Amino acid sequence: MKWKGRRSSSNVEDARGRQASAGGGAGAGMLLNLVGRTFGIKGILVLLVIGFFLWMFGLVDPSQVIGGKPTVTEVDYQPSAEEQERYDFVTVVLADTEDVWNAAFRQQGAQYQEPQLTIYKGRVNTACGMGEAAMGPFYCPGDKKIYIDLGFYDELARDFKAPGDFAQAYVIAHEVGHHVQNLLGISDRVNARRGQRDFNEWSVRLELQADYLAGVWANHNSNYLDRGDIEEAMVAANAIGDDTIQQRTQGRVVPHAFTHGTSEQRQRWFNQGLRSGDMTQGDTFAMPYDQL
Ligand SMILES: [Zn+2]
Repeated sequence: MKWKGRRSSSNVEDARGRQASAGGGAGAGMLLNLVGRTFGIKGILVLLVIGFFLWMFGLVDPSQVIGGKPTVTEVDYQPSAEEQERYDFVTVVLADTEDVWNAAFRQQGAQYQEPQLTIYKGRVNTACGMGEAAMGPFYCPGDKKIYIDLGFYDELARDFKAPGDFAQAYVIAHEVGHHVQNLLGISDRVNARRGQRDFNEWSVRLELQADYLAGVWANHNSNYLDRGDIEEAMVAANAIGDDTIQQRTQGRVVPHAFTHGTSEQRQRWFNQGLRSGDMTQGDTFAMPYDQL
């Protein structure tokens, strides 16, 4: 992808020098949540009883467990030249998505609200809770921000075998797709189904539409593409499909646990967006789930 010398976005926040750490409260909450999910309410009760006895014998101070607040420490962060180049690249890709989506919304008689992008290192406080590098890049509808730890790109190249700058750009374009869905009220409709039996299917529809929207962006970006760029995005879409990830991590595929769609689906919806370039197509909610 041709990117050097092009406009960079002013909506990027460098939070790499800000080291966030979860307070005790968040830690205790996560522990309760984990135990609750694994062992149910009985597990939580057992944990509380254990906690009570530890407190009675003076072995633990509850204020330390419950009262902690997330803390942020500022450090002087010095990125390598390679990392700084990635940073610059991401600011150009974001600017490119702004141009494309500003125009696309205008065409619909609407106004695009540009998202913010926070580049962090390790952990970050967000309106959606504590973000961690291990989660990969994500979009938080609550603060309309995209979060990325640039280390993910090493993982993409090394572990997911999806190298190349356009693979990296696709990842940003997918998150911007979630932002577009948020502006259009689609994310809210899906979120309202949280806790329902078929929520997972709705989540897959949402993810595949974000891939479609990334394809729409790529269509309008075609002047800047190098030979092989689309293949790079395809390799990335393929590598981060749920079935491929599950096979890597569990050695088998469990379809009901899919939340992003299969590799084949992700490639196909990206491709449809790429071909049409039209944000009003790509309704992944209209068709029966097994035909997605
Ligand atoms: Zn997504």
